[in-house]
Amino acid sequence: MATITASCPTCGDIKVTSREVQVQVCSATDEATYSLLCPECRLIVNKPAEPRVVELLASAGVRVVHWDLPKELNEQKIGPPISYDDLIAFHFEIQYTNWLELITGGGQNGAD
Ligand SMILES: [Zn+2]
Repeated sequence: MATITASCPTCGDIKVTSREVQVQVCSATDEATYSLLCPECRLIVNKPAEPRVVELLASAGVRVVHWDLPKELNEQKIGPPISYDDLIAFHFEIQYTNWLELITGGGQNGAD
């Protein structure tokens, strides 16, 4: 297990093991970040990582996780945007105990 010198914005230079660092690579853009939990202040440190840094961290045994952009980004958006009136109507809808059944079509309207 390799020891890695990293930088915490609060504590400055810190030493962590390769097991305490993780690299995240976006499958769509190949942009990467690495993250770790600072052993001194317990702050999560997350920084961008150039391909050379990803390679170095991976060769040191750091876990590399690939992630995908949410599929919702590619969904075709139809219908008007949600308005304040829609929010107010939703607020009143959830006052009913069976609000989930109401909006999914499975129940009858009944105030609590
Ligand atoms: Zn720190």
